Amino acid sequence: MNSGTLKPNEGRLQTAEHILCKVLEGRANDAVMGISKFKEDSGLLEITTAADARTFDLGALQDEVNAVISKGLPVHKTVKKREDAEKEVDLRKVPQSVTEVMIVDIERFDKRPCRDPHVGNTSQIGKFVIRGVEKAGSNRYRFTFKVEF
Ligand SMILES: [Zn+2]
Repeated sequence: MNSGTLKPNEGRLQTAEHILCKVLEGRANDAVMGISKFKEDSGLLEITTAADARTFDLGALQDEVNAVISKGLPVHKTVKKREDAEKEVDLRKVPQSVTEVMIVDIERFDKRPCRDPHVGNTSQIGKFVIRGVEKAGSNRYRFTFKVEF
């Protein structure tokens, strides 16, 4: 981490995940984003919601994410002191011990704290593909996805 050099795929899945989060928050008002994990060629995101996420139209979700990607939105990363960061983003998932918060801002679309690597423009993500969604616990759902050139 923080090496400054990204592997070929690095940042693409992570940036797509932010867009997916925002789109899912629009689908289910009570949705709370949980853990996300990334492998070389795929990612997963867990959310908590009272809605049955298995009934979501995955094709429509995928289309919505790809529509945002295709806008070519700049992705800004800034580090702010915790007291300033909490005025613009939800810091519930950021441990109290963290005093300098990295904010990832997809211009005019979404802003949230995150320490992963991200691409500098959504156009670098490629095509977003949802592979599936499964129940992972009580009110907890796991989405898996990948990106293609
Ligand atoms: Zn991120």
